Amino acid sequence: MLRIGCHLSSSKGFLDMARTARSIGATTFQYFTRNPRGGAAKEWNAADIEAMLMLFEQTGIGSPLAHAPYTINACAKEERTRQFALETLADDIRRLEMIPDALYNFHPGSHVGQGAEKGIELIADALDQVLKPDQHTTVLLETMAGKGTEVGRTFEELRSIIDKVKLSEKVGVCLDTCHVWDGGYDIVDHLDDVIEEFDKVIGLDRLKAIHINDSMNPCGAHKDRHQKIGQGYIGTEAFGRIVNHPALKDLPFYLETPNELEGYQEEIALLRSLAR
Ligand code: FE
Ligand code: FE
Ligand code: ZN
Repeated sequence: MLRIGCHLSSSKGFLDMARTARSIGATTFQYFTRNPRGGAAKEWNAADIEAMLMLFEQTGIGSPLAHAPYTINACAKEERTRQFALETLADDIRRLEMIPDALYNFHPGSHVGQGAEKGIELIADALDQVLKPDQHTTVLLETMAGKGTEVGRTFEELRSIIDKVKLSEKVGVCLDTCHVWDGGYDIVDHLDDVIEEFDKVIGLDRLKAIHINDSMNPCGAHKDRHQKIGQGYIGTEAFGRIVNHPALKDLPFYLETPNELEGYQEEIALLRSLAR
């Protein structure tokens, strides 16, 4: 059965997110590890996490995906900014060890004019500093739209990062449908080719999660403006093929569309109706 959910507010804790997910027919969810606008992160409450895991067992909800603040930049030009990204990643990974086999997604970063190669080097270096041999958390690089100087628009760039990381067995990829589309991968008319390309360049064994979003812009626009499912350039039919693709259908799907809970509930039902 399709494992699908949406981005939820983490302000009321883990059990609240699991209950909210259940109330809208979701079987998974994504959340920010901390306020994306900065500030120190709260320590997580072990009893709250226990209660969430118990509800998971009763309801079949699972695979919560932690998202790092999108404001960090592991390949910034300023040392201070890179250091802040390092501390955030390390602290999030430390707290995520409270959740069994956690998935932790982050935006690789923007090279801000230093060039993609330098950016790749700095990102790999950051991962080398924060990944620990005994951690159970898998860190996911998100495929990016290629807005500005974002690193990670091409599968080759993500592959280069992974190749440079020593503990690369702790690293996977989260594919964002809006981002790859905006980045120039035609998942509407050539989904099989794009998946094949991903497999050839990165390897499908690295693919751990899907951000399922429509796009306000045509393929290759490099914009990154998410749209509601079926109301953008990707369209409902293409999403039907995406949720049923043999290489994707067993992965967890997370909506990051411009919606309130009610809208998410409708999109979850829509995507379930498309899944065979
Ligand atoms: Fe993201
Ligand atoms: Fe995303
Ligand atoms: Zn996005």
